[in-house]
Amino acid sequence: MENFDQPKITPEQQEPAKAGEGKIAYRFETPIYPGNIVYVNLVDNYKCVNDCEFCSRPRTQEDVGKPNIYEQKAGTSLHLKKSPSTEQVMQALESEMRDDDQEVAIIGLGEPLIHLQKVAEVIKQIKEKYDKKTRLDTNGLAKCIHPDKDSAKLLKEAGLDEIRISLNATDEEEYRNLCKPKYKNAFDKLLEFIRECQDLGIDTHVSFVINFESDNVASKSRQDYEDFAISLGIEPDHIIFREYVKPV
Ligand code: SF4
Repeated sequence: MENFDQPKITPEQQEPAKAGEGKIAYRFETPIYPGNIVYVNLVDNYKCVNDCEFCSRPRTQEDVGKPNIYEQKAGTSLHLKKSPSTEQVMQALESEMRDDDQEVAIIGLGEPLIHLQKVAEVIKQIKEKYDKKTRLDTNGLAKCIHPDKDSAKLLKEAGLDEIRISLNATDEEEYRNLCKPKYKNAFDKLLEFIRECQDLGIDTHVSFVINFESDNVASKSRQDYEDFAISLGIEPDHIIFREYVKPV
């Protein structure tokens, strides 16, 4: 998921990430995000079902191992050749978790809900073992990826407290141009998923990348995005704006 606020990058974090040696549990601290959050990465090969114009994740084999903003923030490679098992995720969390951690956020470099069942199982086990707040950052296309599953309900029943959904557009055409989803009707399904999360009482946030422009498309104004998110019933303080950062 895109996650662009500026990190504190130490000289050693400038080193390119090494392919295939990615961490499953990691942390980083930024002016916006405090250090007492553990992040979980369980996406193999940076997989996603979108191809957002503003995304800096490596998209080809040749790009794996080259510097990118996400791995610089994490200070480690996040490239996983294979998605870890639930047991491997819980082991990695066991090593990383500190008593003062308040939250476990499943993010991944790529789309975590490609592994919906595993994400739900990890959330369930985190709640049983640590009783920490759980958060998921997603592109919100679960209904496209798993049309036969009630994804929002599954996540709620597992114990998901907060979801941050990358919305990035105010209509289907804009979404198609900016995020290049591989599914038809992706935007409608995304909006349905947002509604379902809200209806189930998951603390639902939406995010927009701002100040991005390419030959094909440009992001809209903050006000346009804010008006749209509020029309969906999103609380004003649950709207996240992510300043576009050029690839490193
Ligand atoms: S949804 Fe877009 S920004 Fe997020 S990982 Fe996929 S391509 Fe990148």
